[in-house]
Amino acid sequence: MDSAKIQHYKKVLLSLQSRMNRLLAKEQDYLREFNPLTESLDEGDFSQATVDREMELLSRDALSQISKLIELSLKKIENGSYGICERCHQKIPEGRLKALPYTPYCVSCQSIIEKRYEK
Ligand SMILES: [Zn+2]
Repeated sequence: MDSAKIQHYKKVLLSLQSRMNRLLAKEQDYLREFNPLTESLDEGDFSQATVDREMELLSRDALSQISKLIELSLKKIENGSYGICERCHQKIPEGRLKALPYTPYCVSCQSIIEKRYEK
């Protein structure tokens, strides 16, 4: 990949990273503010609040996972291995990098890995 493209992806990744950090900071505020023990909720409200909280936690997990991938991608840009699939060591097609600039795998490796997780 030529250096102009690398610079482009670096910029994209850095702006994604700051967006993630902002989201993660916001989530932390939310979790601090939410305390079901001190809030007087009837049973229906309480289970809804629990579901909300679980969803927040889920999305928080997803957020921090993406944020880790972004960090890894930025490291790869520094050491020159950005855009190479971690599993098969082939180039990741640019269409895929455009859609998911932080992906560590090409499409076929990604689907193999996801199938493995499902079992
Ligand atoms: Zn691959």
